[in-house]
Amino acid sequence: MPPVNRNQPIRALSSESQYTLMDFMREFPDDATCLDWLWRNRYSKDGRHAQCPKCAAKTVFERYETLQQRQSWTCTSCGHHLHPTAGTIFHKSSTSLHLWFYAMYLMTSTRCGIFAKQLERELGVTYKTAWRMAFLIRNELMRQGEGPFTNGQPIECDETYIGGRERGMIGRPGAKSKKVAVFGIVQRKGKVAAVTVDNVAAVTVMPHILERALPKSTVYTDEYKSYDMLERRGFKHRRIRHAEKIYVSGDVHTNTIEGFWSLTKRGIGGVYHAVSKKHLQGYLNEYAWRYNQRHEGRAQFETLLLRSASR
Ligand SMILES: [Zn+2]
Repeated sequence: MPPVNRNQPIRALSSESQYTLMDFMREFPDDATCLDWLWRNRYSKDGRHAQCPKCAAKTVFERYETLQQRQSWTCTSCGHHLHPTAGTIFHKSSTSLHLWFYAMYLMTSTRCGIFAKQLERELGVTYKTAWRMAFLIRNELMRQGEGPFTNGQPIECDETYIGGRERGMIGRPGAKSKKVAVFGIVQRKGKVAAVTVDNVAAVTVMPHILERALPKSTVYTDEYKSYDMLERRGFKHRRIRHAEKIYVSGDVHTNTIEGFWSLTKRGIGGVYHAVSKKHLQGYLNEYAWRYNQRHEGRAQFETLLLRSASR
């Protein structure tokens, strides 16, 4: 195996192809390499000089061998310690950084998502640890971005329900339902955002539409009443009449967002029956992440890694 060139930014390795397990092991062979990556990406470009928060100088930092589990670098002027993991999701964890990086690799290299049970097996950690790792990666690193969709394409909105199956149920679930209401908005040829909501009333879903859809965008929805005010808010609103069994009429359809729902439901459906709202948001983050990164290939892992360092 060739020696790892630690000065080489990982972007230089990016290409259209998949980032394989061999690539990962070559680039991050052990705990020390992962810590060094964090150090360089958070504090020290050259791995040696950093801005000291205590003596406010750009000085040389040395890494001394200590018995601490999470090693630090020390300012050679004043003795202040910098911990590369401080403020990251890794900081208080007793799981090795190498396993954390491997978990992030696994979560960005599957097409259909990965569950805590699989992580437990792959990483050789307890189920509780695997579950917590997946939870933090979904809810912190894969958290959905904000702001409008900007590629100029039409927008589709739709509401749906996910979770606890109710036999024979037709239509929208009642108040006692275990299903969680979810709202999604997607730009054709662009990004998706999906959030759990308390209900699908206009007052709940409109703020999400106003956040994502630029004024005057064309917005496609079904005929549900919550979308009644789109026209008044200045959007070009087109409805597909599902009640009349019409699903596509020229450009008028909501197939993009429905495709996203079916991917998500197929992914989590088999494993996740009683889904709580809080945890469902994590799964939505993960599926939205994968959808939004679908053209990124091997850069997916790199993007997630950089997010872990940017806190
Ligand atoms: Zn200092």
